[in-house]
Amino acid sequence: MPSLIFRKGLDLKHAVAGMLADSYHSALVDQIKAEDFTYRNGRLTLHLAREFGFCYGVDRAVDYAYQTRERFPDRTVYLTGEIIHNPHVNEKLRAMGIRFLSDAPDAIPTLDGGDVVILPAFGVSVAMLQRLEQRGCTLVDTTCGSVLNVWKNVRRYAEGGFTAVIHGKVSHEETQATASQAVAYGGKYLVVLDRAETDAVCDYIRTGGDRAAFISRFANAASPGFDPDRDLERIGLANQTTMLMSESLEIGDLLKRAMLDRYGEAQLADRYQAFDTICSATQDRQDAVVALLRDTPLDVMIVIGGYNSSNTANLARICAEARPTFHIASPDCLVSADEIRHRPVGSKMETSSRGWLPASGPVRIGLTAGASTPDNLVGATIARLSALCDAAC
Ligand code: SF4
Repeated sequence: MPSLIFRKGLDLKHAVAGMLADSYHSALVDQIKAEDFTYRNGRLTLHLAREFGFCYGVDRAVDYAYQTRERFPDRTVYLTGEIIHNPHVNEKLRAMGIRFLSDAPDAIPTLDGGDVVILPAFGVSVAMLQRLEQRGCTLVDTTCGSVLNVWKNVRRYAEGGFTAVIHGKVSHEETQATASQAVAYGGKYLVVLDRAETDAVCDYIRTGGDRAAFISRFANAASPGFDPDRDLERIGLANQTTMLMSESLEIGDLLKRAMLDRYGEAQLADRYQAFDTICSATQDRQDAVVALLRDTPLDVMIVIGGYNSSNTANLARICAEARPTFHIASPDCLVSADEIRHRPVGSKMETSSRGWLPASGPVRIGLTAGASTPDNLVGATIARLSALCDAAC
């Protein structure tokens, strides 16, 4: 039996609206937005970035997951993995009885037409989609339109004979899904994480070099059989949607200049293409935090979001260049007025720091949250900050 696929929700938006509000809404956040994104209590002045938290894609994915549970109360409902990179939201879905195939990959061959599988906002690889379709499951596809836009460009590159150079994290689900689109359409891909990796690609484009060393360096980040002598002759740039905008622009510039140096102006259009595929929600959150840092005197920045959330990590990178910054996963990371648990920029581990909050006198805190962080966590963090400032005055 072919799969039944829901791509536009399940006509139960109104039925789940109350549940979503109960789970993720914050009256305190609404109040702060209405008061020019500023909160004052005692010695604390808190400034909220003007764009933060749930993006349109995450909003929709979580909404569809709740609609799915409502529509199929008696069927086994799975997610392929985390629906978004926020532990609080994923735990709520588990509590609703939704199972995670990432916890039990051996379950995939046992799925059948009675099972329902939700695909996350960042999409799944072509191979995963085919496996699920073969099982005949009912699929609820929440892949964000901005991710679909990246795939469209990557497919066009593949059909035009361009290798997709993807600025992204190779282990990220979205980047894996995007890369799989290139291969499915007969193309090649190469994933670059940062400027250092891009420099290595640019050096090879300009002058060639040690082919074996290049292949080895990018072994986990390139399509099967990738040959830099052949597959860097025509390239198209794409981004994971949640990368740092300034870095993606720089990477595009570096690659373009390398192609220009190698092939000259006359051939450039036939050798290099680029489309900005960073999504507008990521861009808006980055712009808002840049404005907050630029326009507001702040002692400390707090960034809330899952530690595996790419867009949250990039917000923390921006903040850390300008202010003492603490990326926290949840309000309980604010252990006391003296101690905070957080993930430092560039680190993979959570750590604990002391003396993070000025012990006395006025304190000005800036706050933002990644695109997968619901308002209730933002509100609870602000309430906790307020209580800690009171306690330490
Ligand atoms: S971060 Fe962007 S691409 Fe990802 S779900 Fe949100 S809007 Fe869509």
